[in-house]
Amino acid sequence: MPSTPEFQQTVGKVAGFTGTALHTGEKVTLRLHPAPVDHGIKFKRKDLQDEPTIDSKIENLKTVERATTIGEGSVRVHTVEHVLAALWAMGVDNAIVEMDANEPPIGDGSAQAYVDLIRKADVVAQEEPRKFFDARETMHVESKTGALLVLLPDDKFRISCTQAGPNNQFAQFLSMEVTPAAFEREIAPARTFVYYEDVKPLMDKNLIKGGSLENAIVVRGEVVLSKEPLRFPDEFVRHKILDIIGDLALVGRRIRGHVVAVKPGHASNADLARLVAREQTRRSAVAVSRPIPSGDGGLDTDQVMQILPHRFPFLMVDRIISFDTETKCVGVKTVTINEPFFQGHFPGHPVMPGVMQVEAMAQVASILLFKLAKTTSRIGYFMSADEVKFRKPVLPGDTIFIHAELIRSRGDRMAKARCHCVVNDAIVSEAELMFTFLDK
Ligand SMILES: [Zn+2]
Repeated sequence: MPSTPEFQQTVGKVAGFTGTALHTGEKVTLRLHPAPVDHGIKFKRKDLQDEPTIDSKIENLKTVERATTIGEGSVRVHTVEHVLAALWAMGVDNAIVEMDANEPPIGDGSAQAYVDLIRKADVVAQEEPRKFFDARETMHVESKTGALLVLLPDDKFRISCTQAGPNNQFAQFLSMEVTPAAFEREIAPARTFVYYEDVKPLMDKNLIKGGSLENAIVVRGEVVLSKEPLRFPDEFVRHKILDIIGDLALVGRRIRGHVVAVKPGHASNADLARLVAREQTRRSAVAVSRPIPSGDGGLDTDQVMQILPHRFPFLMVDRIISFDTETKCVGVKTVTINEPFFQGHFPGHPVMPGVMQVEAMAQVASILLFKLAKTTSRIGYFMSADEVKFRKPVLPGDTIFIHAELIRSRGDRMAKARCHCVVNDAIVSEAELMFTFLDK
């Protein structure tokens, strides 16, 4: 571990450049803006109404076909991996990437244009220490296509990568420590390469209007086509490393660990980023051991049990961490492998049943209602659940944050609550619940 803390960094001033978008072929201007500590990297769509921003985090990952697309709501940004790789590797932790289109300029298919831009904008230190993810034990992901990524403990950020084309053509290997200087020299200039058979149908459908030999190397059989000669004999594996860095940037923290990658692609890179983010969330939940608030600040387990009649295994809320005004609160439930429902749901593939999440939401909502009514002398009956959506699986080890908001109450007999469950900053389920009250 380094003895001196490393500090977060942002860009010193606004800088931008204009180029061509790969998929639409249109002109796009990208500008980097400084951002405060703990902001992370966010994309801003200047061309849309209200200029929405998208957080570059793994929870916002939408698609990984050919390039990495992130989004929030209906807003998307495509092909974010090269600009993210450059920002991360050049040491920029916090910045706004403003664009007037849905993807960055493709440049020459490498990260060179972004490195030049970051140099122009300058990198400046901020006053808060950086946040790291330290690989403590081996983690790995594998895909059916033969991609394998392993993350091993290391006190530096290293990548060792093997790439191979069809029939093991262009088999290449490179191992390096990722530092700003090494990235700039060894990785940033490496261009995207594509196989002719893969891009031909896209060109025919006019889906890569901005694509040309000026921004990609095309491999057709044994022939390598490109506008300028290869920049490195092993340019392909270098570009694979570039893509790994860009996709792992979605973790949102710097990684201290050694990534060993065999035939990686965006999908497997994203799988590793997801695994790391999930492990980080688990560690944070264990490490933070929040002081259990009392009174208006929240309710501890005993106080929860004074209000709710439910007991193990049907008590689905460990504690209430906060009340926000009279009509909102957040409960928390740590789901362990010992939950009885995992036994049969399903053997070898434990997933928390959706109905148990609805039950958790109902319990948190009824705590809200009891607090509002200032009495537990009546009992709330769960009448109906509308707009129920299960978005993501909840797995053993997850900590669920259960949000409930009272949106309507009629007299003192009926109430409606809007609820959602969050794991790893992503909504995993949601529902609108209706209750009626009867005297006990
Ligand atoms: Zn790439």
